Amino acid sequence: MMNLGQMPDAQGNFGEYGGAFLPPQLVDVMKDVAVQYEKIKNTTAFQEELYDLYTHYVGRPSPIFHARHLSEKLGGAQIYLKREDLNHTGAHKINHCLGEVLLAKRLGKKKVIAETGAGQHGVALATAAALLGLECDIYMGEVDIEKEHPNVVRMKILGARVVPVSIGTKTLKDAVDACFMAYLQDPVSQLYCIGSVVGPHPFPSMVRDFQSVVGREAKEQFNAMTGKLPDNLIACVGGGSNAIGLFTAFLEDETVAMYGVEPSGLSFKPGEHAATMTMGTPGIIHGFRCYLIQDEKGEPLPVYSVASGLDYPGVGPQHSYLKDIRRVEYVTAGDREAIDAFFEISRVEGIIPALESAHAVAYAIKLAPKLPKDQTILINLSGRGDKDIDFVVKKYGRDYGISV
Ligand SMILES: *Cc1c(COP(=O)(O)O)cnc(C)c1O
Repeated sequence: MMNLGQMPDAQGNFGEYGGAFLPPQLVDVMKDVAVQYEKIKNTTAFQEELYDLYTHYVGRPSPIFHARHLSEKLGGAQIYLKREDLNHTGAHKINHCLGEVLLAKRLGKKKVIAETGAGQHGVALATAAALLGLECDIYMGEVDIEKEHPNVVRMKILGARVVPVSIGTKTLKDAVDACFMAYLQDPVSQLYCIGSVVGPHPFPSMVRDFQSVVGREAKEQFNAMTGKLPDNLIACVGGGSNAIGLFTAFLEDETVAMYGVEPSGLSFKPGEHAATMTMGTPGIIHGFRCYLIQDEKGEPLPVYSVASGLDYPGVGPQHSYLKDIRRVEYVTAGDREAIDAFFEISRVEGIIPALESAHAVAYAIKLAPKLPKDQTILINLSGRGDKDIDFVVKKYGRDYGISV
Protein backbone atom coordinates (compact mmCIF):
# COMPACT_ATOMS: atom_id res chain seq x y z
CA MET A 1 0.00 0.00 0.00
CA MET A 2 1.28 3.49 -0.78
CA ASN A 3 2.60 5.49 2.12
CA LEU A 4 -0.29 7.91 2.50
CA GLY A 5 1.48 9.77 5.28
CA GLN A 6 4.19 10.81 2.83
CA MET A 7 1.84 12.59 0.44
CA PRO A 8 1.66 15.02 -1.38
CA ASP A 9 3.91 15.05 -4.50
CA ALA A 10 6.56 17.77 -4.94
CA GLN A 11 3.97 20.25 -6.28
CA GLY A 12 1.69 19.71 -3.31
CA ASN A 13 -0.89 17.56 -5.10
CA PHE A 14 -2.94 14.97 -3.26
CA GLY A 15 -4.33 13.27 -6.35
CA GLU A 16 -6.35 15.99 -8.08
CA TYR A 17 -6.49 18.19 -4.94
CA GLY A 18 -4.12 20.69 -3.34
CA GLY A 19 -1.48 22.44 -5.44
CA ALA A 20 -0.75 26.16 -5.32
CA PHE A 21 -2.93 28.62 -7.23
CA LEU A 22 -1.28 31.94 -6.52
CA PRO A 23 -0.87 35.47 -7.88
CA PRO A 24 2.47 35.79 -9.74
CA GLN A 25 4.09 37.84 -6.93
CA LEU A 26 3.70 34.94 -4.51
CA VAL A 27 4.75 32.00 -6.66
CA ASP A 28 8.46 32.22 -5.90
CA VAL A 29 7.89 33.16 -2.26
CA MET A 30 5.74 30.07 -1.63
CA LYS A 31 8.17 27.85 -3.53
CA ASP A 32 10.93 29.13 -1.28
CA VAL A 33 8.89 28.44 1.86
CA ALA A 34 8.28 24.88 0.57
CA VAL A 35 11.95 24.28 -0.27
CA GLN A 36 13.17 25.69 3.05
CA TYR A 37 10.59 23.73 5.03
CA GLU A 38 11.63 20.51 3.29
CA LYS A 39 15.26 21.20 4.26
CA ILE A 40 14.57 22.18 7.84
CA LYS A 41 11.78 19.85 8.92
CA ASN A 42 13.77 16.69 9.53
CA THR A 43 16.89 18.28 11.00
CA THR A 44 17.64 17.19 14.53
CA ALA A 45 17.89 20.80 15.73
CA PHE A 46 14.40 21.73 14.48
CA GLN A 47 12.79 18.52 15.73
CA GLU A 48 14.44 18.81 19.13
CA GLU A 49 13.38 22.41 19.59
CA LEU A 50 9.79 21.64 18.57
CA TYR A 51 9.50 18.53 20.74
CA ASP A 52 11.04 20.29 23.69
CA LEU A 53 8.26 22.89 23.42
CA TYR A 54 5.61 20.19 22.98
CA THR A 55 6.81 18.57 26.21
CA HIS A 56 7.61 21.49 28.47
CA TYR A 57 5.35 24.23 27.12
CA VAL A 58 2.27 22.53 25.68
CA GLY A 59 2.28 19.69 28.21
CA ARG A 60 2.52 16.81 25.76
CA PRO A 61 1.83 13.98 25.56
CA SER A 62 -1.83 14.74 26.16
CA PRO A 63 -3.48 11.80 27.96
CA ILE A 64 -5.96 9.28 26.61
CA PHE A 65 -8.98 8.82 28.85
CA HIS A 66 -11.35 5.83 28.81
CA ALA A 67 -14.84 7.36 28.96
CA ARG A 68 -16.35 4.44 30.88
CA HIS A 69 -19.59 6.08 31.93
CA LEU A 70 -20.47 7.28 28.46
CA SER A 71 -19.51 3.87 27.02
CA GLU A 72 -21.63 2.02 29.58
CA LYS A 73 -24.64 4.25 29.00
CA LEU A 74 -24.47 3.68 25.26
CA GLY A 75 -24.06 -0.08 25.73
CA GLY A 76 -21.76 -0.70 22.76
CA ALA A 77 -18.18 0.08 21.80
CA GLN A 78 -15.76 1.44 24.41
CA ILE A 79 -15.07 5.15 23.92
CA TYR A 80 -11.66 6.73 24.54
CA LEU A 81 -10.73 10.42 24.32
CA LYS A 82 -7.41 11.89 23.17
CA ARG A 83 -7.31 14.94 25.43
CA GLU A 84 -6.06 17.78 23.21
CA ASP A 85 -8.30 20.01 25.35
CA LEU A 86 -5.65 19.75 28.08
CA ASN A 87 -2.94 21.42 26.00
CA HIS A 88 -1.71 24.89 26.94
CA THR A 89 -4.26 27.33 25.40
CA GLY A 90 -6.88 24.57 25.44
CA ALA A 91 -6.85 23.05 21.96
CA HIS A 92 -4.79 21.33 19.28
CA LYS A 93 -4.01 24.53 17.36
CA ILE A 94 -0.94 25.31 19.49
CA ASN A 95 0.75 22.22 17.94
CA HIS A 96 0.96 23.74 14.47
CA CYS A 97 1.31 27.36 15.56
CA LEU A 98 4.54 26.54 17.43
CA GLY A 99 5.82 24.71 14.35
CA GLU A 100 4.95 27.58 12.03
CA VAL A 101 6.50 30.27 14.24
CA LEU A 102 9.66 28.19 14.74
CA LEU A 103 9.89 27.88 10.96
CA ALA A 104 9.33 31.63 10.52
CA LYS A 105 12.26 32.25 12.86
CA ARG A 106 14.49 29.86 10.92
CA LEU A 107 13.52 31.66 7.71
CA GLY A 108 14.61 34.97 9.24
CA LYS A 109 11.10 36.48 9.30
CA LYS A 110 10.32 39.30 11.73
CA LYS A 111 6.60 38.92 11.87
CA VAL A 112 3.91 36.26 11.61
CA ILE A 113 0.46 37.17 10.30
CA ALA A 114 -2.85 35.34 10.10
CA GLU A 115 -6.58 35.86 9.98
CA THR A 116 -8.90 34.59 12.65
CA GLY A 117 -12.65 34.03 12.84
CA ALA A 118 -13.65 33.14 16.38
CA GLY A 119 -10.16 34.05 17.54
CA GLN A 120 -8.85 30.56 18.34
CA HIS A 121 -6.14 30.54 15.68
CA GLY A 122 -5.29 34.14 16.51
CA VAL A 123 -4.79 33.35 20.19
CA ALA A 124 -2.70 30.23 19.47
CA LEU A 125 -0.50 32.12 17.02
CA ALA A 126 -0.15 35.15 19.32
CA THR A 127 0.89 32.74 22.08
CA ALA A 128 3.59 31.09 19.95
CA ALA A 129 4.81 34.49 18.71
CA ALA A 130 5.04 35.83 22.27
CA LEU A 131 7.05 32.82 23.36
CA LEU A 132 9.41 32.87 20.39
CA GLY A 133 9.84 36.64 20.19
CA LEU A 134 8.27 37.48 16.82
CA GLU A 135 5.82 40.27 16.03
CA CYS A 136 2.27 39.13 15.29
CA ASP A 137 -0.56 40.77 13.32
CA ILE A 138 -3.98 39.14 13.44
CA TYR A 139 -6.62 40.19 10.89
CA MET A 140 -10.14 39.94 12.18
CA GLY A 141 -13.53 41.05 10.83
CA GLU A 142 -15.19 43.85 12.79
CA VAL A 143 -18.27 41.70 13.34
CA ASP A 144 -16.12 38.94 14.83
CA ILE A 145 -14.19 41.44 17.00
CA GLU A 146 -17.50 42.49 18.49
CA LYS A 147 -18.62 38.90 19.07
CA GLU A 148 -15.40 37.37 20.36
CA HIS A 149 -14.36 39.92 22.94
CA PRO A 150 -12.40 37.62 25.32
CA ASN A 151 -10.18 36.29 22.53
CA VAL A 152 -9.53 39.81 21.23
CA VAL A 153 -8.39 40.81 24.71
CA ARG A 154 -6.22 37.69 25.01
CA MET A 155 -4.42 38.46 21.75
CA LYS A 156 -3.76 42.03 22.87
CA ILE A 157 -2.45 40.91 26.26
CA LEU A 158 -0.13 38.52 24.43
CA GLY A 159 1.29 41.49 22.54
CA ALA A 160 -0.30 40.87 19.12
CA ARG A 161 -1.78 43.63 16.97
CA VAL A 162 -5.42 42.94 16.14
CA VAL A 163 -6.18 44.53 12.76
CA PRO A 164 -9.92 45.21 12.28
CA VAL A 165 -11.26 44.32 8.83
CA SER A 166 -14.17 46.45 7.63
CA ILE A 167 -14.63 45.14 4.06
CA GLY A 168 -17.45 42.85 2.86
CA THR A 169 -19.39 41.04 5.56
CA LYS A 170 -16.63 41.91 8.08
CA THR A 171 -16.18 38.24 9.01
CA LEU A 172 -13.70 35.41 8.39
CA LYS A 173 -13.63 35.35 4.59
CA ASP A 174 -12.95 39.10 4.46
CA ALA A 175 -10.25 38.72 7.10
CA VAL A 176 -8.57 36.10 4.87
CA ASP A 177 -8.68 38.56 1.95
CA ALA A 178 -7.24 41.40 4.06
CA CYS A 179 -4.47 39.20 5.45
CA PHE A 180 -3.64 37.96 1.96
CA MET A 181 -3.33 41.58 0.77
CA ALA A 182 -1.02 42.43 3.66
CA TYR A 183 1.10 39.39 2.83
CA LEU A 184 1.35 40.45 -0.83
CA GLN A 185 2.72 43.81 0.28
CA ASP A 186 5.58 42.24 2.20
CA PRO A 187 6.12 38.51 1.73
CA VAL A 188 9.81 38.84 2.67
CA SER A 189 9.80 39.89 6.31
CA GLN A 190 6.44 38.24 7.16
CA LEU A 191 5.19 34.65 7.15
CA TYR A 192 1.48 34.00 6.65
CA CYS A 193 0.71 31.24 9.15
CA ILE A 194 -2.31 29.30 7.94
CA GLY A 195 -4.61 27.93 10.64
CA SER A 196 -5.45 24.47 9.30
CA VAL A 197 -4.44 21.89 6.67
CA VAL A 198 -5.62 24.26 3.92
CA GLY A 199 -4.13 26.93 1.65
CA PRO A 200 -1.45 26.60 -1.03
CA HIS A 201 1.41 24.08 -0.86
CA PRO A 202 3.29 23.58 1.47
CA PHE A 203 0.75 24.46 4.21
CA PRO A 204 -1.55 21.41 4.00
CA SER A 205 1.37 19.01 4.48
CA MET A 206 3.28 21.29 6.88
CA VAL A 207 0.36 21.76 9.27
CA ARG A 208 -0.34 18.00 9.02
CA ASP A 209 3.27 17.19 9.93
CA PHE A 210 3.07 19.43 13.02
CA GLN A 211 -0.27 17.92 14.08
CA SER A 212 0.70 14.31 13.43
CA VAL A 213 2.28 14.14 16.88
CA VAL A 214 -1.29 13.58 18.11
CA GLY A 215 -1.75 10.27 16.27
CA ARG A 216 1.78 9.03 16.96
CA GLU A 217 1.28 9.55 20.69
CA ALA A 218 -2.21 8.07 20.58
CA LYS A 219 -1.02 4.90 18.84
CA GLU A 220 1.56 4.22 21.52
CA GLN A 221 -0.69 5.20 24.44
CA PHE A 222 -3.64 3.19 23.18
CA ASN A 223 -1.47 0.12 22.71
CA ALA A 224 -0.07 0.50 26.22
CA MET A 225 -3.62 0.74 27.63
CA THR A 226 -5.34 -2.02 25.64
CA GLY A 227 -2.65 -4.01 23.83
CA LYS A 228 -4.34 -3.19 20.51
CA LEU A 229 -4.98 -0.59 17.87
CA PRO A 230 -8.26 1.33 18.17
CA ASP A 231 -10.95 -0.08 15.86
CA ASN A 232 -12.40 3.35 15.03
CA LEU A 233 -11.11 6.93 15.01
CA ILE A 234 -13.41 9.95 15.08
CA ALA A 235 -12.54 13.64 14.70
CA CYS A 236 -14.42 16.78 13.70
CA VAL A 237 -13.47 18.43 10.40
CA GLY A 238 -13.40 22.16 9.78
CA GLY A 239 -10.28 22.64 7.66
CA GLY A 240 -9.23 19.26 8.96
CA SER A 241 -6.06 19.75 11.03
CA ASN A 242 -7.05 17.93 14.21
CA ALA A 243 -8.53 15.07 12.18
CA ILE A 244 -5.47 14.58 9.98
CA GLY A 245 -3.31 14.92 13.11
CA LEU A 246 -5.01 11.87 14.61
CA PHE A 247 -5.43 9.90 11.36
CA THR A 248 -1.93 10.14 9.86
CA ALA A 249 -0.25 7.56 12.11
CA PHE A 250 -3.01 5.03 11.35
CA LEU A 251 -3.56 5.50 7.60
CA GLU A 252 -1.80 2.27 6.72
CA ASP A 253 -3.44 0.21 9.45
CA GLU A 254 -6.23 -1.31 7.43
CA THR A 255 -8.21 -2.55 10.44
CA VAL A 256 -8.65 1.00 11.73
CA ALA A 257 -11.86 2.67 10.46
CA MET A 258 -11.81 6.48 10.38
CA TYR A 259 -14.62 8.98 10.50
CA GLY A 260 -14.36 12.72 9.84
CA VAL A 261 -17.39 14.59 11.17
CA GLU A 262 -18.59 17.67 9.30
CA PRO A 263 -21.20 20.09 10.65
CA SER A 264 -24.67 19.75 9.13
CA GLY A 265 -25.72 22.83 11.13
CA LEU A 266 -29.45 23.47 11.02
CA SER A 267 -30.20 21.53 7.82
CA PHE A 268 -28.70 20.61 4.45
CA LYS A 269 -30.26 23.74 2.90
CA PRO A 270 -27.75 26.19 1.38
CA GLY A 271 -26.34 28.53 4.02
CA GLU A 272 -27.44 26.32 6.92
CA HIS A 273 -24.51 23.87 7.06
CA ALA A 274 -20.78 23.54 6.37
CA ALA A 275 -20.75 19.89 5.29
CA THR A 276 -18.17 20.49 2.59
CA MET A 277 -17.41 16.94 1.54
CA THR A 278 -20.94 15.67 1.95
CA MET A 279 -22.56 18.46 -0.09
CA GLY A 280 -19.74 20.15 -2.05
CA THR A 281 -17.99 19.60 -5.38
CA PRO A 282 -14.31 20.05 -6.36
CA GLY A 283 -13.23 23.66 -6.84
CA ILE A 284 -10.59 26.22 -5.91
CA ILE A 285 -10.48 28.42 -2.80
CA HIS A 286 -7.65 30.36 -1.11
CA GLY A 287 -4.96 29.00 -3.42
CA PHE A 288 -5.75 25.26 -3.44
CA ARG A 289 -8.16 22.69 -4.88
CA CYS A 290 -10.56 20.74 -2.67
CA TYR A 291 -14.21 19.88 -2.14
CA LEU A 292 -16.01 23.21 -1.90
CA ILE A 293 -19.44 24.64 -1.22
CA GLN A 294 -19.70 26.90 -4.28
CA ASP A 295 -22.05 28.54 -6.76
CA GLU A 296 -22.09 27.90 -10.54
CA LYS A 297 -19.27 30.40 -11.00
CA GLY A 298 -17.00 28.69 -8.48
CA GLU A 299 -17.47 31.39 -5.82
CA PRO A 300 -17.59 30.04 -2.26
CA LEU A 301 -21.09 30.20 -0.75
CA PRO A 302 -21.94 31.19 2.82
CA VAL A 303 -21.76 28.30 5.29
CA TYR A 304 -22.91 27.93 8.87
CA SER A 305 -22.34 25.87 12.00
CA VAL A 306 -22.97 26.51 15.69
CA ALA A 307 -19.24 25.76 16.06
CA SER A 308 -17.46 28.69 14.46
CA GLY A 309 -14.24 26.68 14.07
CA LEU A 310 -16.02 24.37 11.63
CA ASP A 311 -17.74 26.83 9.29
CA TYR A 312 -15.36 26.93 6.34
CA PRO A 313 -16.66 26.36 2.77
CA GLY A 314 -13.53 24.40 1.77
CA VAL A 315 -11.60 21.55 3.39
CA GLY A 316 -8.04 20.22 3.38
CA PRO A 317 -6.91 18.69 0.07
CA GLN A 318 -5.73 15.50 1.75
CA HIS A 319 -9.19 14.97 3.23
CA SER A 320 -10.70 15.48 -0.24
CA TYR A 321 -8.37 12.76 -1.52
CA LEU A 322 -9.00 10.40 1.42
CA LYS A 323 -12.72 10.72 0.75
CA ASP A 324 -12.34 9.79 -2.92
CA ILE A 325 -10.19 6.72 -2.19
CA ARG A 326 -12.58 5.87 0.67
CA ARG A 327 -9.89 5.54 3.30
CA VAL A 328 -11.86 7.88 5.56
CA GLU A 329 -15.64 8.08 5.77
CA TYR A 330 -16.98 11.63 6.08
CA VAL A 331 -20.20 11.88 8.05
CA THR A 332 -22.19 14.71 9.66
CA ALA A 333 -23.59 15.91 12.97
CA GLY A 334 -25.93 18.89 13.30
CA ASP A 335 -26.11 21.75 15.81
CA ARG A 336 -28.66 19.98 17.98
CA GLU A 337 -26.72 16.70 18.11
CA ALA A 338 -23.55 18.62 18.99
CA ILE A 339 -25.28 20.54 21.80
CA ASP A 340 -26.74 17.28 23.18
CA ALA A 341 -23.28 15.71 23.08
CA PHE A 342 -21.78 18.82 24.74
CA PHE A 343 -24.08 18.40 27.75
CA GLU A 344 -23.91 14.60 27.81
CA ILE A 345 -20.12 14.36 28.07
CA SER A 346 -20.04 17.28 30.50
CA ARG A 347 -22.51 15.52 32.77
CA VAL A 348 -21.33 11.91 32.63
CA GLU A 349 -17.56 12.43 32.38
CA GLY A 350 -17.02 15.93 33.80
CA ILE A 351 -15.40 17.16 30.59
CA ILE A 352 -16.77 20.30 28.88
CA PRO A 353 -15.74 20.02 25.22
CA ALA A 354 -15.37 22.73 22.58
CA LEU A 355 -18.47 22.87 20.36
CA GLU A 356 -16.27 21.73 17.48
CA SER A 357 -15.14 18.63 19.39
CA ALA A 358 -18.75 18.01 20.48
CA HIS A 359 -19.50 17.14 16.82
CA ALA A 360 -17.03 14.24 17.06
CA VAL A 361 -18.59 13.14 20.36
CA ALA A 362 -22.05 13.36 18.75
CA TYR A 363 -21.04 10.94 16.02
CA ALA A 364 -19.50 8.55 18.57
CA ILE A 365 -22.82 8.59 20.43
CA LYS A 366 -24.53 7.47 17.20
CA LEU A 367 -21.89 4.87 16.29
CA ALA A 368 -21.07 3.20 19.63
CA PRO A 369 -24.46 1.48 20.23
CA LYS A 370 -24.24 -0.20 16.80
CA LEU A 371 -20.93 -1.87 17.66
CA PRO A 372 -20.13 -4.84 19.96
CA LYS A 373 -18.73 -4.14 23.44
CA ASP A 374 -15.24 -5.39 22.61
CA GLN A 375 -14.83 -2.75 19.88
CA THR A 376 -13.16 0.58 20.59
CA ILE A 377 -13.59 4.17 19.42
CA LEU A 378 -10.91 6.81 19.89
CA ILE A 379 -12.14 10.42 19.61
CA ASN A 380 -9.83 13.38 19.14
CA LEU A 381 -11.20 15.80 21.73
CA SER A 382 -9.70 18.79 19.93
CA GLY A 383 -10.42 21.50 22.51
CA ARG A 384 -12.07 22.57 25.74
CA GLY A 385 -15.39 24.35 25.92
CA ASP A 386 -14.62 27.38 28.08
CA LYS A 387 -14.90 29.66 25.05
CA ASP A 388 -18.42 28.36 24.35
CA ILE A 389 -20.12 28.16 27.74
CA ASP A 390 -21.74 31.62 27.80
CA PHE A 391 -23.18 31.22 24.32
CA VAL A 392 -24.42 27.68 25.00
CA VAL A 393 -26.24 28.41 28.25
CA LYS A 394 -27.77 31.57 26.85
CA LYS A 395 -29.11 29.91 23.74
CA TYR A 396 -29.75 26.32 24.89
CA GLY A 397 -29.43 26.29 28.69
CA ARG A 398 -33.16 26.18 29.40
CA ASP A 399 -33.52 22.88 27.50
CA TYR A 400 -30.98 21.35 29.88
CA GLY A 401 -32.38 22.74 33.13
CA ILE A 402 -30.14 25.80 33.41
CA SER A 403 -31.61 29.26 33.91
CA VAL A 404 -29.31 32.25 33.53
C1 LIG B 1 -10.29 25.43 15.06
C2 LIG B 1 -10.81 24.25 15.78
C3 LIG B 1 -11.29 23.11 15.10
C4 LIG B 1 -11.40 23.03 13.60
O1 LIG B 1 -10.20 23.05 12.90
P1 LIG B 1 -9.57 21.79 12.20
O2 LIG B 1 -8.47 22.35 11.39
O3 LIG B 1 -10.64 21.13 11.39
O4 LIG B 1 -9.09 20.89 13.28
C5 LIG B 1 -11.70 22.02 15.84
N1 LIG B 1 -11.68 22.04 17.20
C6 LIG B 1 -11.23 23.11 17.87
C7 LIG B 1 -11.25 23.07 19.35
C8 LIG B 1 -10.79 24.26 17.20
O5 LIG B 1 -10.36 25.32 17.90
